[in-house]
Amino acid sequence: MKALQYRTIGAPPEIVEVETPVPGPGQIRLKVTAAGVCHSDAFIMGLPAEQYTFGLPLTLGHEGVGVIDMVGDGVAGDRLGESVAVYGPWGCGECYTCSQGMENYCERAEALHITPPGLGSPGSMAEYIILDSPRHAIPLGGLDPVKSVSLTDAGLTPYHAIKGSLAKLVPGSSAVVIGVGGLGHVAVQMLRALSPANVIAVDVDEEKLRLASDVGAHHAVHSGHDAAAAIRGFTGDKGATAVFDFVAAQATLDLGKAVVHTNGDQVLVGVGAGVLGVGVLAGPYDSTIRAPYWGSRSELFEVLELARCGLVHVETEVFSLDDAPTAYERLHAGTLRGRAVIVP
Ligand SMILES: [Zn+2]
Ligand SMILES: [Zn+2]
Repeated sequence: MKALQYRTIGAPPEIVEVETPVPGPGQIRLKVTAAGVCHSDAFIMGLPAEQYTFGLPLTLGHEGVGVIDMVGDGVAGDRLGESVAVYGPWGCGECYTCSQGMENYCERAEALHITPPGLGSPGSMAEYIILDSPRHAIPLGGLDPVKSVSLTDAGLTPYHAIKGSLAKLVPGSSAVVIGVGGLGHVAVQMLRALSPANVIAVDVDEEKLRLASDVGAHHAVHSGHDAAAAIRGFTGDKGATAVFDFVAAQATLDLGKAVVHTNGDQVLVGVGAGVLGVGVLAGPYDSTIRAPYWGSRSELFEVLELARCGLVHVETEVFSLDDAPTAYERLHAGTLRGRAVIVP
């Protein structure tokens, strides 16, 4: 089968021919119907050799949907033919944290060398993908595969980040979304669907600010030296109740810190390399800094339900598997509207 692999540190990913995988005991195989292109892929491909820990060659793709077409020994065949979304942050399924569905924070994943598809295990940018367990195949329930594939990360990650601050997003509160890319434009919709908060989107790019307004942001602020004053203006000078930073570079962390108010949350989601200092007088009283990772299995069910209700959608641009390297170039250039999706 064809697969998109990262094979050489620092080089672009390549389309290669690999052996079609067969599911082992307890595993299932999906015929991939769509795979999403993510900034994290670009991030790991930008790492120097000494920091790269994901194995080579690596079949990319940690956002995937497909149809169950083969099952391994010990797996009932009753779900053959079902269209499913891949829950990516695999855990052991048996520890206390996994028992709550939070496999993204599995206590044993590292010790057992469990790695997500596309981030260690072979990913979804191929004609077929093996899932280590049928529990990682979440029913798509009638959703369009191409339009919904990115909900597995670009939907699940902001959903998990927002849910942790939801109790604070009461009427009169303000939520700031920094970075209106693949995740940020979904975050804006989720904030509108789940809370009465005043939603303020921030980006450096006018096109992305238009997208933010199109998907429901109340205000769009151009990132720059007067962004903090603009945000304060839109919050009645109170500042932000929660800042969701989908960039997390030093400049955006500093902006978030400048606008978050007492008892507010600064939530770091992007993979930028910025660092925030903490200390008794380093931020507003009782403010919280969180760095959540991906989301839980039950939250993916909820995200798909939100899409089924028509409350969130992902803006997508479609590429063939052969054109996948181009999708990564466009991602790098910042010219994608929403998410690039690969259809094998
Ligand atoms: Zn991702
Ligand atoms: Zn576990």
